[in-house]
Amino acid sequence: MHNLLDATKRPVQIAIGLAAVGFVLIILGWNGAANFDTPQQQVPYLISGGVAGLGLVIVGVGLLVINEMKRATALVLAGLERAAEAGSAAAGPTAVPGSGPMVVAGRATYHLPTCRLVAERKDLQTMSPSAAIDRGLAGCRICDASQAATA
Ligand SMILES: [Zn+2]
Repeated sequence: MHNLLDATKRPVQIAIGLAAVGFVLIILGWNGAANFDTPQQQVPYLISGGVAGLGLVIVGVGLLVINEMKRATALVLAGLERAAEAGSAAAGPTAVPGSGPMVVAGRATYHLPTCRLVAERKDLQTMSPSAAIDRGLAGCRICDASQAATA
């Protein structure tokens, strides 16, 4: 979240700076025009100061609006990513799409991969519950592997 704010801080400052320069130009143009009595002499000042100033103000405000839209989009995208991650995490590491739940085969029993009895055992084989039952293994009662396998 901090990175996101840092990344959007600079465009905001640039936009505010442009708008400020625009206002200064408008004031300078107005003051310049006020020094002359005839419209013929005033018009160039009003155009150069006023129009250019107005343009900068519009560009600055436009940048601010665009920046806000970008930030809103980034926030929405970040939210969607978090939701997607939460969704895949909820599915869990044991659920392999299409192949059903897998179990870890011990010497006499089979376990869920999350069971504390096999958590540290890297030497054990992972297989489908039916393969474990074919080997004559019984479902672990601590992690309720047989319940989960038939669920
Ligand atoms: Zn177990």
